[in-house]
Amino acid sequence: MENKKIRIALIGGGPAALFMFKRLLELGNRNIEITIFEKKEQFGAGMPYSREGANEEHITNVSANEIPHIVTSIKDWVQTVSSDILDLFSIEAERFNEYKVLSRLFFGQYLSGQFDLLHGLAKEKGIAAELKSGSEVTDIQDKPGTSEVSVEVNAQANYLFDKVIICTGHNWPKRYEGKVPGYFDSPYPPSKLRQGFNHTVGIKGASLTAIDAIRTIARHNGIFTEDGTGMLSFKASSDTPDFKVVMHTRHGFLPAVRFHLEDSHLKSNSLLTEEELSAHRQENDGFLSLDYLFEKDFKEQFKDKDEDFYARIKDMTMEDFVASMMELREELDPFQLLKAEYIQAEKSIKRQESVYWKEMLAILSFALNYPAKYLSAEDTLRMQKTLLPLISLVIAFIPQTSCRELLALHAAGRLELVAVGTDSEERVEKEKGGITIRYTTDDGDAKSAYYKTYVDCVGQPHLNYEDFPFRSMLEDKTISVATIRFKEDVNGQEAQQDYPDRVTKHSDGYRLSVSGIAINDNFQVTDSYGAFNDRIYIMAVPYIGGYNPDYSGLDFCEEASGRIAKWLAEEYQSV
Ligand SMILES: Cc1cc2nc3c(=O)[nH]c(=O)nc-3n(C[C@H](O)[C@H](O)[C@H](O)COP(=O)(O)OP(=O)(O)OC[C@H]3O[C@@H](n4cnc5c(N)ncnc54)[C@H](O)[C@@H]3O)c2cc1C
Repeated sequence: MENKKIRIALIGGGPAALFMFKRLLELGNRNIEITIFEKKEQFGAGMPYSREGANEEHITNVSANEIPHIVTSIKDWVQTVSSDILDLFSIEAERFNEYKVLSRLFFGQYLSGQFDLLHGLAKEKGIAAELKSGSEVTDIQDKPGTSEVSVEVNAQANYLFDKVIICTGHNWPKRYEGKVPGYFDSPYPPSKLRQGFNHTVGIKGASLTAIDAIRTIARHNGIFTEDGTGMLSFKASSDTPDFKVVMHTRHGFLPAVRFHLEDSHLKSNSLLTEEELSAHRQENDGFLSLDYLFEKDFKEQFKDKDEDFYARIKDMTMEDFVASMMELREELDPFQLLKAEYIQAEKSIKRQESVYWKEMLAILSFALNYPAKYLSAEDTLRMQKTLLPLISLVIAFIPQTSCRELLALHAAGRLELVAVGTDSEERVEKEKGGITIRYTTDDGDAKSAYYKTYVDCVGQPHLNYEDFPFRSMLEDKTISVATIRFKEDVNGQEAQQDYPDRVTKHSDGYRLSVSGIAINDNFQVTDSYGAFNDRIYIMAVPYIGGYNPDYSGLDFCEEASGRIAKWLAEEYQSV
C-alpha cells in the first residue's frame, strides 16, 4: 500500500464536502488523491445557498462571525469581491458588519470561492484533487473482495476508490407536486413561489422553511415599507386583494428569535468529555443516560453563569423543564410572543448579551447529537416526545428581518397561525387541486379548511432506509436500518404495543427503529451485524437523522468532517 495512492471520493460538492476537502488537505498526506463529484456546475454553495434553495430575500440564520473557519473569513473575503457582486447584494466592503446575517446567495458565492481557494491549496501542497462538475453519482457499490468502492457517474462511467464519503446533503422527495395543481411538496426551489395568489395560501409548519416560503410569497403579493420606527408595514397588491397566508402547525407555536450568542460556535469547555461519556456508558450497560446528559451538559452549566436560573431549574427533571418553557408559549398568542422575543433579542444583540438558557439549549442539542445513538430506546422516545420539540422551536433562530416581515404581515391581517393538533387529517384534492384539512381546535370544535395552494414546509424530512439513493448499497446490505436498544425488555414489549412497526425483538433484546441508516461514531456505515465499513462514510443528514437528531448545519459539517479526518489520519499514519 505504501506506494499506491489512496483514492478518496467525495460524493456531492456542497458545504459538507467543502469542510471535508479542507480536513483532507489538513492531513498533509501527499499520498492521497481526492475526486469530488458534483451534479451541478457550482461547488461549495450546495442547496440552501444556491438558486436551488434561495432567492435574493433569503438569509442565513447565522452571522458571518458564527461561521466555522474555512480558508479566509467572510470579512476578509468581502474585501476581494468585485463591486458588481457587492452592489448586487447591497454590501459595502468597508462597512461590512460580521455580526449580521447574510444573504444566502451571497454566502453561496463565499463558499464557492472557498472551494476554489482549497483547490489552489491542494495544488500548492502537491495533493492531487480533481473536481468533477456535471457528475451525478447514480450508484455506489462496495467491493469488499478488493477493498474498493465502485462509483457510477451519470449512469455510465464507473470509477474505483479506496474511500468514499457521501456528502449528498438535502433531498426533498416529491409526492404530489407536478401531479396535483396547487400542491407543493416543499418550497424549494423558491423561484416557483414567485406568483400572485389572490386567495389564502396554506403553509404546513412554522419552521424557518415556512418563513422562507412566506417571505417569497409576500413579496409577490404586496409590498413592505419601513414605518419610521425600524419596523415594517405590509400592503397587499391591488392585483391580489384577497391574498393571505395561514400556517398550520401541530401546537400553534412560532420558533424563537435569533439573539446574540456568547460563544459564536456553540461550544462550551465545561461539557462532558469523550472520556467522561465513555466512563459513564461503561457503568451503565453501554447506555448513555439522557438525565445524566441533561444534568451535566445543561443544568450544571448554569451554576456559575446564571445562579438565579440554576436555582429555578436545579430540581427539575427534563420533562419539568420542557413543560415550564412550553407553558409560556402555550399561554401567549404566538405573534405577541414573537414581538416580545424580538424586543428581547434586539436588546441582546445591542448589548452583546446572550439569552443564556437558549444558547445552552443549542449547545446541549449539539452535544447530544453525536452520542444520541447510545441512548436507550426508552430515553430516545422521551427525547423525541419532549426535548426535541422544544429544541426545534428555540434554536431555529428566526433572523430579525424575517421577524419584522412576519409581524408586518400579521398586523396587516395577512398572516395567521392555526394549531391543528396531532390528529388532523389531510386530504390531497387530486382532481380540483390543493388540499382539505380537517382538525379539532383547542376548544374541541371540529373544523375543515380548503387551500387551493398549499406548501409543505415542515423542513428537511428524515428519510428512511428504503429511500437510500444508492441501490447497490441497499441490495448488497452494505447499510442497515438505524435501531436503538431498549434497556428493559418489559419496556420494549410495552412499546411494541404502541409502535408495532417500530419495535422488533432481536437476540440482544427489543429494538426501536429510528429514521435513516446506522453509522458509527466516525460516520462509517454499518451493516445489520453492527460491523462498520472502513471504506464508506456518510455525512448526508437526511439519511442519518435517527442517530444524529440535531440539524445544526455548518457546525455539523465542521464537526463530522473533523471526526472522519481524525479516523483517516490514524489509519494513514504510517502511509
Ligand atoms: C433552506 C435551508 C437553509 C439553511 N440555512 C442554514 C444556515 O443559515 N446556517 C446553517 O448553519 N445551516 C443552514 N442550513 C443547514 C444546512 O444543512 C447546511 O448548512 C448545509 O447546506 C449542508 O451541506 P451539505 O453539503 O450537507 O448539503 P447540500 O447543501 O444539500 O449540498 C449537497 C451537494 O451535493 C450535490 N449532490 C447531491 N446528490 C448528488 C449526487 N448523487 N451526485 C453528485 N452530487 C450530488 C448537490 O447538488 C449539492 O451541491 C440550511 C438548510 C436549509 C435546507
